[in-house]
Amino acid sequence: MKILKFGGTSVGSAENIKRISEIVLNQQEKIIVVVSALGGVTDLLVGVARKAASGIKLNGELLAIRARHEEIIETLFGNEDGVKTIDSLKPLFEELEKIVQGVTLIGELTPKTLDKILGFGERLSSLLISNYLNVPLIDSMSVIKTDRNFGKANVDFDLTYELISEACSKVFQFAVAPGFISSAADGSMTTLGRGGSDYTAALFAAAVNATQLEIWTDVDGFMTADPRVISKAYTIPTLTYSEAMELSHFGAKVIYPPTILPVYQKNIPIHIKNTMNPLGDGTLISQSETTGKDHPIKGISSISGISLFTIQGLGMVGVTGISMRLFGALARKEINVILISQASSAN
Ligand code: ASP
Ligand code: MG
Repeated sequence: MKILKFGGTSVGSAENIKRISEIVLNQQEKIIVVVSALGGVTDLLVGVARKAASGIKLNGELLAIRARHEEIIETLFGNEDGVKTIDSLKPLFEELEKIVQGVTLIGELTPKTLDKILGFGERLSSLLISNYLNVPLIDSMSVIKTDRNFGKANVDFDLTYELISEACSKVFQFAVAPGFISSAADGSMTTLGRGGSDYTAALFAAAVNATQLEIWTDVDGFMTADPRVISKAYTIPTLTYSEAMELSHFGAKVIYPPTILPVYQKNIPIHIKNTMNPLGDGTLISQSETTGKDHPIKGISSISGISLFTIQGLGMVGVTGISMRLFGALARKEINVILISQASSAN
């Protein structure tokens, strides 16, 4: 079995959804297709939720999201199937509208409600695409179980793997599943963090011991550098899991970093492919080390918006608990520390 994940751009237009169907329906193996929300929809939903919380009525924005889905459906489907698909999405739009109305009335947006609102992006796209491919839909929310850390929930791996493999054992050849969404033990919807559809796909891959995880995106793979900065950057054909982790952690936005661990643990290769250039080689991430003497450095990535600060003072020498207080203070403000170094005198 293979898991194929298609990102926001890949599902963002009728033309690209047609490409997906060509890619998927040509496969010989059993396939689970994990999809993101249509490109830009999650950001629109964040905007809708925030404005609603400040009491602004938002009919226009919600109608625009609806129109975007319906236009794609009209382009993709024949008349009769189009009407049926539009009808099947209707209850979701109505539910979304009611929740947003509730937020507007109460003027409050809890992290739990925000997750509920953002989840509509993937619920809508997966329903649309499963209708188009005419294949069953797996409810990711009920098979991916997490804690209640809304916004970026932590997965209960054992339970999740058991539920996913049970759901996938019933799949005949193809199925579609929404990325990003999950649920807590009490059934509340949670999400896996922005960009989390890659992670959903990795969880599916690990649960079923897939032969490969394919991440279909809008670039050719990991590049040697940011092509917007370095014009001669080119695609890196192979990477190890740890090289891929290092590059994505440091700003290469090809893959959501938590994605790597579940497949690394099961030694399942990840193939990054470009939906717009399906014949390209992409980047293959696996255990095998291919760095030769000629190319000791695989790629260079960078992140902006980072602060560097130094704490020094003679009063710190030999004082127990200084590091705990410093990092505790940063953690309370949810500041992520990416690099630490300490002089031997400051311990
Ligand atoms: N739709 C979610 C986001 O935009 C998840 C994803 O696309 O991976 O963050
Ligand atoms: Mg995405």
